[in-house]
This record gives sequence, C-alpha cells and structure tokens, in this order.
Amino acid sequence: MADDMRSLEKRYEEARKRLEEYGQAGLLACYGALSEEGRKRLLADIEEIDLPMMKELYAKAGKHEAGGEIDPNELTPLKPLDSETLSDCERERLETLGLKAIADGKLAVLTMAGGQGTRLGHDGPKGTFDIGLPSHKSLFELHTDKLKRVSERAGACVPWYIMTSEINHAATVEFFESHGYFGYPKDKVRFFPQTMIPPLTPDGKLQLEAPDKVLKSPNGNGGMFVSLKKQGCLDELRAMNVEYLMVTGVDNCLIKMADPLFLGALIDEPACEAIAKSYLKRGPGEKSGVFCYRGGKPGVVEYTEIPKECAEMTGADGQYVYGDCNLLAYVFRMDVVGKLCETGMDYHVAVKKIKYFDPASGGELERTGGYKFEMFLFDAFRALNSLKVLRVKRTDEFAPVKNPTGEDSVELARQMYLDYTERSARSMNNNAKICMKTPLVEMDGDEMTRIIWKKIKETVIEPFVDLKTEYYDLSIQNRDATDDQVTVDSALATKKYGVAVKCATITANPQRQVEFGLKKLWKSPNATIRAILDGTVFRAPILVKGISPLVPGWKKPIVIARHAYGDIYAAVDAKVPQGGKAELVITDPDGSERRVTVKDFAGGPGIVMGMHNTDASVANFARACFQYALDLGVDLWFSAKDTILKTYDVEFRKIFAEIYENEFKTRFEEKGISYFYTLVDDAIARVMKSEGGFLWACKNYDGDVFSDMLATAFGSLAMMTSVLVSPDGYYEFEAAHGTIPRHYHKYLKGEPTSTNPVATLFAWTGALAKRGELDGIPELVKFAHSVEECTLEAIAEGNMTGDLALISTLENKKVMNLDEFLNEIAARVAKKG
Ligand code: NAP
Ligand code: MG
Repeated sequence: MADDMRSLEKRYEEARKRLEEYGQAGLLACYGALSEEGRKRLLADIEEIDLPMMKELYAKAGKHEAGGEIDPNELTPLKPLDSETLSDCERERLETLGLKAIADGKLAVLTMAGGQGTRLGHDGPKGTFDIGLPSHKSLFELHTDKLKRVSERAGACVPWYIMTSEINHAATVEFFESHGYFGYPKDKVRFFPQTMIPPLTPDGKLQLEAPDKVLKSPNGNGGMFVSLKKQGCLDELRAMNVEYLMVTGVDNCLIKMADPLFLGALIDEPACEAIAKSYLKRGPGEKSGVFCYRGGKPGVVEYTEIPKECAEMTGADGQYVYGDCNLLAYVFRMDVVGKLCETGMDYHVAVKKIKYFDPASGGELERTGGYKFEMFLFDAFRALNSLKVLRVKRTDEFAPVKNPTGEDSVELARQMYLDYTERSARSMNNNAKICMKTPLVEMDGDEMTRIIWKKIKETVIEPFVDLKTEYYDLSIQNRDATDDQVTVDSALATKKYGVAVKCATITANPQRQVEFGLKKLWKSPNATIRAILDGTVFRAPILVKGISPLVPGWKKPIVIARHAYGDIYAAVDAKVPQGGKAELVITDPDGSERRVTVKDFAGGPGIVMGMHNTDASVANFARACFQYALDLGVDLWFSAKDTILKTYDVEFRKIFAEIYENEFKTRFEEKGISYFYTLVDDAIARVMKSEGGFLWACKNYDGDVFSDMLATAFGSLAMMTSVLVSPDGYYEFEAAHGTIPRHYHKYLKGEPTSTNPVATLFAWTGALAKRGELDGIPELVKFAHSVEECTLEAIAEGNMTGDLALISTLENKKVMNLDEFLNEIAARVAKKG
C-alpha cells in the first residue's frame, strides 16, 4: 500500500513536469481534491497522451483551416469494376475465389461500431439499435445473421473484430453476452476499443471531461489501424494467418458481411493492395466522397473539396466521371494493414464546438473554434499504390441508419432492407446458374412458335443456365427487311460456332405475301440454311408413356434421316408448249455435248422437270447416316428406287455401299449393328411390321413425306424433333412442326392456348446438350437431359397440353395451357437440382 502511494506520488511528479513543459498543467487543477482512485484514473489518462504530438497537431491546426477546393488538374478518374456488368459465370468465379479463401481461414471482418445511437434517439451503442423490422432485430443481429450465412456457405467461421469506443465498449460486450452472441461462436468475436485523442481549445489547451478524467474523443475511423495494434489484434490476426481484413461500418443495415464476391475481386488482382466498394451517385450534389486519383494516388475526395466542374462532369456513356461514392466497405491485404498499423495516418482537423469541465466553476463550459482530430480510413488509400473499386447496386447494399427522418433515415433504411430481402428471396433459384463457353446460334421465328420460344427460354432455361446465344431474328418481317440476309448470316454463324437452335418460320407463299406485304416470295429459311450447311436432317419422335403409336407393333422410336440437299427441292421445272420436245443437255468442261430426250411432246402440252444431286452431297449424306447410327447404336436402313432410276438412285446406292465397306463396316460390326439397303416400297412394308429402334435413311422427298407420316403415327407432330447435321459437324436443332397459326390467332385475342412446346423445348435441350458435349461442360449436358426427363415424367404423370390429352390413354389427365405446362416442367427441373 505504502509502495503504491509512493509510486503514485512519483507518477504525479512526472506528469506535472511533463504537463508544465507543454503548458498543460491545467489538467491537474482538481488533483488535490480527488480520491486515490480518482487520482489513479486521471494519471493513467494523462500518461496516455502524446504531448509532443498534440503540440505538433496544434501548430498544424491553424493552417489546416483553409481547406478549400482542389485543383481539377490534380484529379483523374478511377474506373471501377461494375458488379452489374459481370456475367453470372464471372460472378461465380470471383465468389468461388472468395469462398475458398474464407474456407481457408484467410479472412477476418472488422466492424467499426464505436458510435452511440444518440442521434437516433437511442440510448446505447448504435449497433444495438432496432430499425423496426417485423423481427425487431438489432443492427448487430442483422450483421451476425449475414456472417452466419457466409460462414455456412464457406464451411468455416469468419473471425469478427468489433471496434467499440470507450463510451460503448462495456455496453456492446454486454449486449452480445445477453443475446448469446446471436448464435455466432463467442470465441470468434473479439471486441476492442478504439483509441481516443484529446481535442484542443482554440488556445491549444487540453481539457477535462470530469475532475478525474481527461476530455477525449475517438480518433476517427482511420484510427482503426493504430487501435488494432495497440490492442494486440494485429498480432492475433498474424498468428491466425489471416491474409485479408474486410472493414465495414455498423450503421449500414444492407452491408454484405464477409462478401465473397468482394473478397474474390481483390484476390483476383494480385497487384492490388486493397479494394473498396462504391455506389453510383444520383446527382452532382450528393454528399459523399468519391473515388478518384489525386496526384496519381488512389483515394477519396470529399464532396466539400471536389471542384464543381469535376462533380458535374459526365462521360460518353452519360455517367458521372467522378461518380463512385465511398460506401465504407473495404478489404485490405494484411501486409498493408501491418504497414498502416506501424505508420498510422495523418490527423485531419475539424474545427468544432468543445464542451468541457471547468474546474473553476465546477460546471460545464462550451467553446467554439476548438479542434478535434480524426484519422480517416480513406487516407489509407493514399498510402497505397493500387486500389480497386467495385461498384455495387446502391439499393442492394447501401442503407445507412443515420438520422431519425429524411436522408439516410431509419425509415428509408428499413424500407430498403425489406425491399432487398424480398427481391433476393425471389431470385434465390437464380443463384447457381450453369455457365456456357460458346454461344448457341439462336434463330428466332414466327407466330405461335415465337411465343413458345420466348416462354421456354424464360421459364425453363434462363433460370438455370447463364444462356449465351448469338441472336438472329428470322421472323418473316425481318427476313423481308434484310432481303433475307439475316437467314444467310445465321447459317454462316452456325458454321462459325457449330451449334444452332431454330424456331419454326413461315415459308412465304402468295397468301403470306399479301398478309405481310412482302417484297418477294423469299425462299424457305430451312432451304437456305440447308443449302449453306449441306447435310442431313434427322427426325426422331419423342415417345412417352400413355401415348401409344397408331402402329401397335412400334415399341421404339424410328429415326428418319432425310437427305437435305437437291432432288426436287433444287429442281427446275417448266411447261412444255404444244409440240415441243424436252431434252437433257449435258455439256462437259471440254465443250462436248450429250443429249438425252426427256419427252417429245408432239401429242400435246405437258410439263417437265430437271433435278440433280452431287456425288459429294450423297457421300456426305451417307457418312452422316453411318455416323449417326453409330452414335445411336441402332441399325441403318437406306431406301431408294434403284429399280426405276437406274442411274440416279443406283448412284446413291453405290455410294452408300462403298462408304460402308471402306469406312464403317468394322465399326458397325464391333457395335453389333447392321446396314442394309432396300427398295423404298419394301422399306415401307418392313417399317410397318417392325418394332422400331432403327435409323431410316431417306432421299430428300421421301424423308419429307415419311417423317410427317411417322410423326403422326407416333402420336403427334408436336412430339417430333429435328436436327440438321452437316458433313463438317455443324448441328442445327429445331421442332418438326410449323408456326401453328391457328393457335397464334387465339393467342392474339388474349385467349390462353394449350399449345404443345415439347418439340421446341427438345430442340433447345438438343442444342444445349450438344454445346455442352463440344465444350466439355457436363453440367450443361446433364441439365439438358434433366429437362427432357422432367418433361416426359410430367406427361407420364398426366400433365399435358390439349393435343396430347386427346390421344393419351392415361386416366388421370390434367389438361394444361402452355404457361402451366412450362411452369410444371421448370418446377420439376428445379426440384431435381
Ligand atoms: P403447323 O404449324 O405445324 O400446324 C398444323 C397443325 O398441327 C396445327 O394447327 C395444330 O393443330 C397442330 N400442331 C402443330 N404443332 C402443334 C403444337 N406444337 N401444339 C399443338 N398443336 C400443334 O403447320 P401448318 O399450319 O401447315 O404451317 C404453318 C406455318 O408453318 C406455315 O407458314 C409453314 O410455312 C410453316 N412451317 C414451318 C416449318 C419450319 O420452320 N420448320 C415447318 C412446317 C411448317 P390444331 O389446329 O388442330 O390444334
Ligand atoms: Mg413435310
């Protein structure tokens, strides 16, 4: 005890000497009247004060007052990364980076929570304020909830540092204690008080707050670094091998705690020392500092300092050039934190009213023109060489609770919070979309199928896939407007990317020409595309439980391969006037001619036609068929009329045989499948008697006609898919049916239609699966198959459109309109996951 007294004496003497030296002995005015406890408290306070620094600050304080605007030439814009322009894939990639780091324990979060809720009429730490949500959760609890969610996603608990102040430290700790830390592990939460610094009166004097207490105020958010070190947190963070420190304020109820995207965006740029969030300002007068370079250094320029011309400046895109406001969310790399903890930052001086205890009167005095000192966190950026700025959506992430009413009010923040949670609940399903690498060529079309097209994309595909397409509008109006160039372009794009999906399109005829006022009768888009891609069209019925083929013996699908080049589709035909004679003239390259009489029409008028094919196209056709049969693992049949067309069809037959012998026979045998040729009439008989399960190669016209016959016999034209496979390996998927005008007219009248989207949907899944296969994206292939399975399951369980209900043998049928049916499928896909 005596020892204690002596040392107290000694401490007093030392303090007195130091204070006198700096002209601050006034702090000891009440010392003699204090209890021993009071004396200890006061001396401890005094010993903490860095008197030389206070002297220096006072000397600088006067000069600082000038402030004023910055020279516009000092400023250059800092271009942010706009999170809204990130593709889903890019977003996912960055989030994964962030989550991985969190899982590895590399992130700690720091919340600056030194403030009191006084301005909100709340007697307690600001973080304990209830913003009036139905749940009545405090800001601290809202933040904890978010931290828990990220920790769950990452599978690791994020260490949380809460910076309090001398004023609210005890109350903050008590709040967490009494609420069981809101379910967050207590050992992951660390409170530490922010360092305080005394203000000075205009004459440079330190003052008392009470007889035994020096007047101090928090040293600003930038004081965080100094405080971290002083409280031993820096050493702790280092010992835990934390590599990133995310810093946010307590009063923003929408703040994303431990945001993996934010962290990922920093990790993604190893050259960047820190990252900050911004939101776009609404107008030039917005009262927030903006990010920019000043004298080549990244930082924040306050709204009070920025030259008006810079504040108002807009770029070519119409956006503010200096428009990225400081949201008060940062991530620093730990080495930077370490550096800033050592060096600290310069104090800013604020000229403010100061209230203090007056020893003479024993009451409170108030003086204007005093000086308060604060470090600003954004000054940290000036110590950096590189800062990345991530611009986020204000309505999603910035709702500060500062005032009881008006701007940044509780009411506004509460509404923003509620709106945001509702929006994010709605888009929950959209979170983990499958990414694509190469775009699909998307050929949009006409009438009812155009409507189906859009609904399929919106309901069944886009919620699950980050769909990439190169879009071509093949509507009849646009084909007419572009003189059909758009069709050619879409075919060329298919050659570039390899996979296309096509909507049904109107083939112009005289009636349609009047209907749409067409410039001319444009060729059928399918003919144009086939002419450019060459190749073979494969048509397969979609078999489903409850819909029995009209031919009872058919158990498996019969796939038709239709040669898509030449014959009557590229024929020339003519009328032959009375008495005329029609001949085929073949002129060889050397000029020599051969003539074959088609008909001498001496007896009366007639008609004549010349059609062709090329060996190359037939060979391509043959190869495509052999390859497709191998892919499907089924027998290949080829039919023609070689008994009648002894040159033309015999050529087809010979080419098929040669290619089979030379290129495919071994592989067919290995796979246990066979190839055989038969006359087309014989083929028909065999097809009818078969149980299905083979590929039937048909010449162009045969394929056209027989595929419609097969579609109908298998149940419905709306259940037939079609894919054009070119010899170079390009694929174009479509439905076999047309634009369904009758349903479209109903739709235009506002009536719901029960149109069957299955064939069009399967065109999309076919294309997506092929894209996934070519690009090595197994999730995409799996998704496509899952959609197909879900569709068939839905129908098998009785959910179907009207056309199928008419022919389904199921008992528990539920007829659905187009929207209901697509929603049903989407729900099943979502459930399947
Ligand atoms: P369609 O559009 O296939 O329609 C014929 C009838 O089949 C419809 O009226 C409807 O019968 C039924 N139907 C077809 N698909 C259906 C579906 N998905 N759901 C329910 N019912 C369906 O053939 P179209 O009327 O002959 O031709 C219309 C237009 O399509 C023409 O301009 C034609 O050029 C064009 N077309 C384009 C392609 C193509 O782009 N690949 C192919 C063929 C035709 P109900 O009326 O009894 O319900
Ligand atoms: Mg046809």
